[in-house]
Amino acid sequence: METLKPKIAIIGAGNVGSTFAFSLMISGLAREIVLVDKNELLAKGECLDLNHGLSLTHPTKIYAAGFEGCEGADIVVITAGANRKPGQTRINLAEENVTIFKDIIPAIAKYASNAILLVVTNPVDILTYVTLKLSGFPANRVIGSGTVLDTARLKYMISEYCKVDPNNVHAYIIGEHGDTELPVWSNATIAGMDIEMYCSVYAGLSNAKNELSEIFENVKNSAHSIIEAKGATNYSIALALLKITRSILRSENSILPVSSLITDYYGVSDVCISIPSCVNNNGVEQYLRLELSDKEQEQFRHSADTLKKIIGSLNF
Ligand code: NAD
Repeated sequence: METLKPKIAIIGAGNVGSTFAFSLMISGLAREIVLVDKNELLAKGECLDLNHGLSLTHPTKIYAAGFEGCEGADIVVITAGANRKPGQTRINLAEENVTIFKDIIPAIAKYASNAILLVVTNPVDILTYVTLKLSGFPANRVIGSGTVLDTARLKYMISEYCKVDPNNVHAYIIGEHGDTELPVWSNATIAGMDIEMYCSVYAGLSNAKNELSEIFENVKNSAHSIIEAKGATNYSIALALLKITRSILRSENSILPVSSLITDYYGVSDVCISIPSCVNNNGVEQYLRLELSDKEQEQFRHSADTLKKIIGSLNF
């Protein structure tokens, strides 16, 4: 069957997978989109609904298929798996989703051996590492969505606080996508100015340091608030995936805090974790060696150790 390029395969047609497919279709970035889900009816239904909007957007071939549908894909976006249930530990969720990945990653690797794999399923850093090992792909072609979403939330919340366009806020969350993540305040700026300085001079805030820490805590809890209210998060993660996808397909060299395999980063090796990284058509071209403060270095090592402990307890 002829493959139209660029082609994106989306594994998992649930909240995240289907919303990403919708945003991708509107963007016009992909010429072909395939949805793969063990719930075939769901994948077919989503594709029908999306196809009915095609005359109103861009010509795109959109269809449901089995894993053979991944053939010729430039990027395979993996959203299949369970969400964390109330009371479930991260380790239990990791075990549950590793079992699914042991099935799906070899199937994806078989049909899309040249693709870039973009992992979204949680715990995303752990499953990115598992995907790397199960696929045997080079490290630059296995990417986790990491803290791209968390960083977008941070920029939004700071922008509200400082009454400035979120695009003028340059602040990254690094580390695990989860409880041990950390904001890199030592490198944070608004329009090139130290963030605390900007807050006190231009936003009239006297206690910016504490208030920024509070904002970060709100960012960490925001997924929980959304899930409590509507059951899942879908729009902002879909846009985070679109940003990563665009940077890959158009080789834009965007600096994004994606999760990838790191080596000798402040003494940390052999774990997938988020660091601002240059993303282009090679996948993760390189991750940046930030100058972290002593406290940030310590927090980063703690975050990596937490992930490594979970990885060490898994069987894959
Ligand atoms: P969902 O339950 O709505 O969708 C998951 C889909 O995966 C389901 O349709 C299910 O049928 C499918 N699936 C399960 N096993 C499969 C298999 N073996 N083969 C093919 N399909 C299979 O869940 P969701 O809300 O879309 O979330 C998906 C994942 O993304 C979760 O793990 C969630 O925690 C994660 N997530 C990550 C981020 C992030 O920033 N990394 C943000 C939001 C959600």
